Amino acid sequence: MDEFELIRRYFVPLARAEQHADLLLGPGDDAAIQRLPPDTELVFSVDTLVEGVHFPRDYPAELLGWRSLAVATSDLAAMGADPVCFTLALTLPEASPDWLAAFARGLGKAASCFGISLAGGDTTRGALTLSLQVHGAVPAGQALLRNGASPGDLVCVSGTLGDAGEALNWLDHPAPGDNARQLLERYHHPQPRLALGRALRGYASAAIDVSDGLLSDLGHILEASGVGATVDSDAVPLSAPLRALGGEDALAQALVAGDDYELCVTLPPPAWKQLPDAIRGRLTVIGRIVEAPGLEVTGSASGQATGGYNHFGVS
Ligand code: ADP
Ligand code: MG
Repeated sequence: MDEFELIRRYFVPLARAEQHADLLLGPGDDAAIQRLPPDTELVFSVDTLVEGVHFPRDYPAELLGWRSLAVATSDLAAMGADPVCFTLALTLPEASPDWLAAFARGLGKAASCFGISLAGGDTTRGALTLSLQVHGAVPAGQALLRNGASPGDLVCVSGTLGDAGEALNWLDHPAPGDNARQLLERYHHPQPRLALGRALRGYASAAIDVSDGLLSDLGHILEASGVGATVDSDAVPLSAPLRALGGEDALAQALVAGDDYELCVTLPPPAWKQLPDAIRGRLTVIGRIVEAPGLEVTGSASGQATGGYNHFGVS
């Protein structure tokens, strides 16, 4: 199977299955074309996943398809952007039909779930590596940035944290029980918080997705905004399965483990009050922005070292 046959067989059908109206030209030409409606801005981001670094060796191809698009699309959620299309640069050691079919299936499920269309890509031979560039759109000037947090703002997170981190301990378990299965589901099928990010436009002063760990990712907001924060570790939301399986480590996982892809946002108190109930109900207040730089953790995990996953080992 040559490169063109591979694209025709596995990726063109996927592009046809989910067709965003603003993707005017998908795979097959020299480049893709995206329409930008008046008064919108293009929001785009690229993510690379390397086998053995960002996902385990021999990770099931269908899960990899979902996961790679989910983690890339999560950056659009964190910007409050509406997904439009993505490109896929795929480097493969070999063209295995079974692997490709499963990968395309997972990718396709994620694409239709998130409403994002495959626009094109590049296919090369080498160590298994995926690069996905995602494109989204926001009304002009309304993207959620990291640099808008001010002293007095509330620090909030969506969902529960630490589940995907705890799941890593169960990846190779032959018979995970119900709790472990629920945690594994969080690792295998991350859900970019697209609707929430969109709903927070005009309310949140800063936002980031929790990919490297809460303390590390909140640290990025603090640095970009030139402020500090206090976080009450006992307010950090933990799921029942994590409480059951994580034991004493549960809270530490929730503070420093990555891969949950929840949102961490800051909101001025008046904006918090004005939020629609359904949106407020998806968020938990865990702390406050303060003027003095630094991140102070109070409560049971007050001694917790700050930081999360960092590829170069410096924070
Ligand atoms: P070029 O040489 O112009 O870069 P390519 O041979 O790399 O063209 O790609 C041909 C077409 O196939 C392009 O439209 C490209 O976007 C698309 N394509 C290549 N690889 C992929 C892929 N993995 N998924 C989707 N589309 C792809
Ligand atoms: Mg090319």
